[in-house]
Amino acid sequence: MASMRESHDWSIDRALQLYNIANWGAGYFSINQKGHLTVHPCGQPGPVIDLMDVVDDIRERRLGFPCVVRFQDVLRSRVKQLNETFRNAIAQHGYKGQYFGVYPTKVNQMREVVEEILDAGAPYHFGLEAGSKGELLIVLALNSDPEALTICNGYKDEEYLRLALLGRKLGRKVMVVIEKLSELPHLLRLAEEMNVQPLIGLRSKLSTKGTGKWESSSGDFAKFGLTTPELIQAVRLLHEKGAEGLARLVHFHVGSQLTDIHTVKDVENEGARNYAKLLKMGLALEYFDVGGGLGVDYVGARSNRYVSSLNYTVDEYAADVIYTVQQICASEGVPEPHIVSESGRALTAHHSCILMNVFGHIEFGENGAVHEAHAGQAEKAPVPDAPETAVVREMREIVAGLTSKNSGETYHDAVAKKEQALTMFKLGILGLEERAQIEGLFWRLCRKLVEINKRRKRIPGQTRGLEDKLADQYMANFSVFQSAPDHWAIDQLFPIAPLHRLNEPPTRDSTIVDITCDSDGKIDTFIENETVDETIALHPLREGEPYYLGMFLTGAYQDIMGDMHNLFGRVHEVHVFVDDEDPEDYYIEEVIPGDTMERVLVRVQYEPSDLAKRVKQALDARVREGAVKPKESVSLTDFYEQAMRGYTYLASI
Ligand SMILES: *Cc1c(COP(=O)(O)O)cnc(C)c1O
Repeated sequence: MASMRESHDWSIDRALQLYNIANWGAGYFSINQKGHLTVHPCGQPGPVIDLMDVVDDIRERRLGFPCVVRFQDVLRSRVKQLNETFRNAIAQHGYKGQYFGVYPTKVNQMREVVEEILDAGAPYHFGLEAGSKGELLIVLALNSDPEALTICNGYKDEEYLRLALLGRKLGRKVMVVIEKLSELPHLLRLAEEMNVQPLIGLRSKLSTKGTGKWESSSGDFAKFGLTTPELIQAVRLLHEKGAEGLARLVHFHVGSQLTDIHTVKDVENEGARNYAKLLKMGLALEYFDVGGGLGVDYVGARSNRYVSSLNYTVDEYAADVIYTVQQICASEGVPEPHIVSESGRALTAHHSCILMNVFGHIEFGENGAVHEAHAGQAEKAPVPDAPETAVVREMREIVAGLTSKNSGETYHDAVAKKEQALTMFKLGILGLEERAQIEGLFWRLCRKLVEINKRRKRIPGQTRGLEDKLADQYMANFSVFQSAPDHWAIDQLFPIAPLHRLNEPPTRDSTIVDITCDSDGKIDTFIENETVDETIALHPLREGEPYYLGMFLTGAYQDIMGDMHNLFGRVHEVHVFVDDEDPEDYYIEEVIPGDTMERVLVRVQYEPSDLAKRVKQALDARVREGAVKPKESVSLTDFYEQAMRGYTYLASI
C-alpha cells in the first residue's frame, strides 16, 4: 500500500480517509490545515483543540509521556446525546413512559468522570449504577437527586444490602436488583429490621444471546440473573410476604458491545415479554431496564463483521428499544414502562485518549541487516564485503535472478539456501560475517518481492503475507497492559493515528511495540480506510524531531483495568476543558501526575528508603575497598534516590 501514498497525490482528505477519522471519531475528531489532529469536544461546528497544542502544554509542564487526556466536554456531549436521543424516540413514537438512564460506574469510577456525567445528566435525572459495595459507597454519596435512579447490581452480601437500604433512608430511588434468589428473602428481612421500604428489581437471565465478544456472558448458562423457574419462585415469595408492590423494575444485561441491531431487537422482545407477564402476575413494575450493551464503533466500519464495530447508531438503538417495548406492551395490553439503560461504554469511550511519543523503530533494512533507527540517529552503514564463499555467492545469484515471473521459486530457493547456511553455521564451517551476508541478501530479496507483489493482482502463495512480516516496528513509550488492556486480552481495536505531519504521506508500514519486556506488548491490528489491517502507515522518523501518536476512544474500561506489568503503573493525566476566550480554545483544569517508581514499589511491598539504604551500604563498602571515591558515592546515592521519585516510563525528548 505504501507505494500508493506518494507526496504528489497526498492530501489532508487522504489522511482523514486512511485513518478513517470521521467514521470512528463520531464528529469529535478531525485534522486541521497544519496537518495536526484536532478535537471538537462539543461536536462540529464548535471550538477546536489542536492536539499538538496539548502536547506542547504537556511538555512545558515537564510532565512527559505517555499522558492521558480527558475531554470533559466530550463526556457532557455524550450524556446529552444519549438522553436527547431517547427523549426524541419517545416523542416520535408517542411512547407513554419516560427515559431514566443510569451510568454504570464500573466503566470508569474516577471522581471527575462520575461527577461530570452527573452534572451533565442533571436536567434528565440521570442516575448511577453500582455493581459492588465499593461502587455503592461512591453512588450513595454522589447521586443526591431524589428523582434519579440508583441501581444496585452484582452479588450482594448483608453489608451491601444494608448500604442499599441506607440509600432508601436518604430518600433516594435505590433499586436492589436481585441477581440470585437468596438475595430476596435476605433483603426483605433486613428492610423490616431497618424499618424501611425497599425497591426491588428482578434480573432475568434471557435465553437470547448477545452477539460479539461477550456472547458467552449471556444466554441460559450466564452467570447472573434468575431463570424462568426462579422468576416464578420470586413472584411467589413476594406474594407470600405481601411485597408485590415493592417489585418495581425488571432488568437484563446480555453483554457489552452488541454488534448487531437484530440482537438488540430480539433481546428487547424477550425482555419485554417477561415484563408484561410479570406485571400480569401482580408485580407493581414501573421500570424496564435494558442494561448495557450499546456499542461503540471503534473501527468506524458501521458493520457487525468486526467485534470492535457495529451496524447501528444510537438513534437506531433508542428507536428499536422504544418501538419493540411499545409493540409488546400493546399486544399484551399492559402499560408502557419507563425505560432505563445502563450504557457505560457509549458514554465514556470517546472522552479520553492517550498521547505517546515514538522513540525509535526497528526496520528490516534495505541494506539487508535488521537495524534500529532512533528518532535522532543516523542510519548505520552496510556490513563491509568479505571475500565471498560459495554459499554466499549462490545466494547472491539467486537474488540477482529474481524476476516477476519466477518470484515464487526464487523465494523458495532463497529460503532453502538460508537454511543450508544456518546448518553450516551450526557445524562451525560458516563464519558470522558470511551468515550476516546471507541474511542481508535474504532480506533484500524479501523487500524486492514485496515491491513486485504490490504491482500484481495474484500473489504466489509462498510470498503472501511477506509485507506484514517485513513491516517496521515503531517503539512507542507506553504499556499496552496499562493503557489498552482490552487490546491485549480480547483483541479490542483502538484507533491510532499520528498527531502531526498528516499533510505528509505516511510511507512506512509499521506495527507498534510498547516498552514492556513482553512479546505481547504490541499492537498489530489497525484501521486502514474502513477495514482492519495488520499494519499502520506512519511517517519516517526525523533526526532530533519527536514523533507523536494518539490512541483514541480509550475512555471506557481501559483506565481502571490497566495493570502494573513491568511496574510501569498509572500514566499522567490532564483534564481539558473548552474555553472560547482562550486563543487555543481550551485550558487544562487539572493535572494528575502518573505513578512514580516509589509508588509502584510500595505497592509490591518494597520500602523505598530501605532499598536506598541497601544501595548506600553497598556503595560505602566499595568506598572502603577504594573502588569508588567518597564524593562519587554521594552523588550516586543521590542519583538512585532521585530516580526513585521519577516517572516510571521513558523520559522523552
Ligand atoms: C458492565 C455492565 C454494564 C455496562 O455495559 P456497557 O456495555 O459498557 O454499556 C451495564 N449493566 C451491567 C449489569 C453491567 O454488568
